[in-house]
Amino acid sequence: MKHYLNKLPQDIRGIIHNISQAAVEERVSAYLVGGFVRDLILGEPNFDLDLTVDGDAIKLAQNLARKFQARIVIHKRFGTATLTFCHKKIDFATSRKECYPESACLPVVSPSSLKDDLARRDFSINAMAIEISNKNFGRLIDHFNGKEDLDNKKIRVLHNLSFIDDPTRILRAIRFEQRYGFNIEANTMALLKDAVNLSMLEVVEPQRIRDEIILLLKEKDPVPALKRLNSLAGLKFIHPCLKLKRAGFSLLRNVSRQIAEFSRNYPGLRRLDTWLIYFCALVDGLSLKNSEAVCRKFVFRKGEEKRIIAYKKIKRGLIRKLCDKKIKFSGIYELLEAQSYEVVFMVRVRFANNVLNANVDHFFNRLSTTRIHTSGNDLHQLGLEPGPGYQKIFKQVLDAKLNNTVKNKQEELALIKQLIKKHGETK
Ligand code: ATP
Repeated sequence: MKHYLNKLPQDIRGIIHNISQAAVEERVSAYLVGGFVRDLILGEPNFDLDLTVDGDAIKLAQNLARKFQARIVIHKRFGTATLTFCHKKIDFATSRKECYPESACLPVVSPSSLKDDLARRDFSINAMAIEISNKNFGRLIDHFNGKEDLDNKKIRVLHNLSFIDDPTRILRAIRFEQRYGFNIEANTMALLKDAVNLSMLEVVEPQRIRDEIILLLKEKDPVPALKRLNSLAGLKFIHPCLKLKRAGFSLLRNVSRQIAEFSRNYPGLRRLDTWLIYFCALVDGLSLKNSEAVCRKFVFRKGEEKRIIAYKKIKRGLIRKLCDKKIKFSGIYELLEAQSYEVVFMVRVRFANNVLNANVDHFFNRLSTTRIHTSGNDLHQLGLEPGPGYQKIFKQVLDAKLNNTVKNKQEELALIKQLIKKHGETK
């Protein structure tokens, strides 16, 4: 594997070298494991270093942190530590085995050999290790023929109860299959279907399903994976009424296309939470009540749930107004500024027509970032006492700015003077 490691960028090679030396000093064996090894062999960029240590991983990470003044977060209970080193996150874990006292529950974990650590993993392609700590530097450890499965583009579980122990692996299998253009190997597929028929996705703790759904929706293009998931498992594990038909997939494909355009067209705007947009598209066919039930079940973060529900609550009236050719820019702003970019984006995709699209584009292009230059201090200097009148004036100035009737601070102040004169609001 040395030639694979040699192809890594210099900073990553440097980090691996430092970890290797520290492991020798500590007299422990350290191994690169998991997705990093998989992607290294595939030639896919992945610089999330994941290390398993046959020994005390926390002590090794602490020594490195001291030596290189790296930030360290320790999870004593799990025997793990995360270092932030040269802007990279590196996970250290003491090798461990897992035992599932009950299916679909979290496993009981105890320290063990590297082989046991690899045996607890999801698929053969994620169960390889590369030794980095001593004279065996670069040696591939591949107890489950992961390299052969990578070569043959196969997703294979390590034992027959894998999906029963942890049904979230159903989502992971589909995600990796679609990401790399692999195939789920025949026996693995039969086991996956058995687990689906046993409704295993419905018995897992919903938060664990949620985390895997989010990872799936964060894939570069999650639509093929959703299609595959729909055909292999259906979506009733998300909600019994959730079904994706042609219109649903067409909406998802439009989302996918327009997400790419958004980052090209608006590089100055904050990045969209794209998984959340896909999720809104996914639950588009569900009623508000059922969408609220989904959000409750998956316990999304407050800000996430708020945006999903805000999308579901978009009223026909708002869409009608956005379709009005004569709407003022300040009117567009008033309709959309309280909504998140994700919701506005979904409105554009879901209710697309020429006028609405042009109005939403104006919002993203200019209106959403329009600010006035006048401050409370300026109003005070013009003789106005602080009070509710300030907000009214700011709103009128902002509307004028949105509608292009004032352009700079001088014009803003001129408008304010006119307003004061008209309403006589002086000290
Ligand atoms: P990605 O490229 O999506 O980050 P990854 O393989 O690095 O993929 P992680 O979720 O970071 O995925 O997991 C790291 C490793 O932990 C995996 O490669 C796999 O070996 C193991 N793993 C993760 N989730 C599971 C699971 N549910 N069951 C068994 N092993 C798992």
